[in-house]
Amino acid sequence: MTAHALCFPTARDIQASFVQIVSDSFLNLFYPEECFACSSPVARRQDCGLCDDCWRKVLALRIEGALCPSCGVPLPGFAEGVGNLCLECIRRPPPYSGARSFGYYSSEMRRVIHELKFKGRRPLVKLLAPLLADVFFESWRRDDFDCLVAVPLHRARRRERGFNQAELLCRALARIIGLPELRILRRAAATKSQVGLSDAQRLENVRNAFKCTSIGHVAGKRILLVDDVMTTGATVASASRALIDAGAEKVSVLTAARAVHL
Ligand SMILES: [Zn+2]
Ligand SMILES: [Zn+2]
Repeated sequence: MTAHALCFPTARDIQASFVQIVSDSFLNLFYPEECFACSSPVARRQDCGLCDDCWRKVLALRIEGALCPSCGVPLPGFAEGVGNLCLECIRRPPPYSGARSFGYYSSEMRRVIHELKFKGRRPLVKLLAPLLADVFFESWRRDDFDCLVAVPLHRARRRERGFNQAELLCRALARIIGLPELRILRRAAATKSQVGLSDAQRLENVRNAFKCTSIGHVAGKRILLVDDVMTTGATVASASRALIDAGAEKVSVLTAARAVHL
């Protein structure tokens, strides 16, 4: 699969300055860096710890072809652009109006998100946000939305991690698109980790997990909800529901990656 060119530059595409080249060669001499995904040498700091090969593999994980227009799940075997809903959306229409993700949550993409989230490699946001922007403009226009909102972490988990990866992605994306980023959602309940739960358990785990903290800012607004990964969609559905209940006109969802059970 050939990855098509990105519309927005990532940290990797920016021309390194002379000072950067000298400092990189000096650092490589004493502290050689390895790709966190495959351990081959990474020469430049602006590559954010990922080698060229692994970056190409991330780009090749882009979701393409026919998608469910409602939840964005790939529909292999269906014709592109026909607009068939997936069975899940027919059975239980989600509260959000359209969800899109850049790539499949597997192999190198999974490694990148894990490094960002659990190892605190925050510069990776400079690689992921342009991918989100690419998918954004493929699916929507800037005028389709009033603001961006990140899926929040519970206060205790945010304190423990020191940051919320969804907020970092949302802020960087808001800057590229040129729309405001609002912090108007709070994770009310300290939900258990979703790992290892069935679809029904995930839905139950996050039901009523979110509260809108500023109803005045939400009424009549068209909101783009941003998260790092969409798994079953239970989390983004619950967060969308909280925004719609607070008066949002519509909520759409954009994530860097999407877990798909094929
Ligand atoms: Zn690598
Ligand atoms: Zn669907």
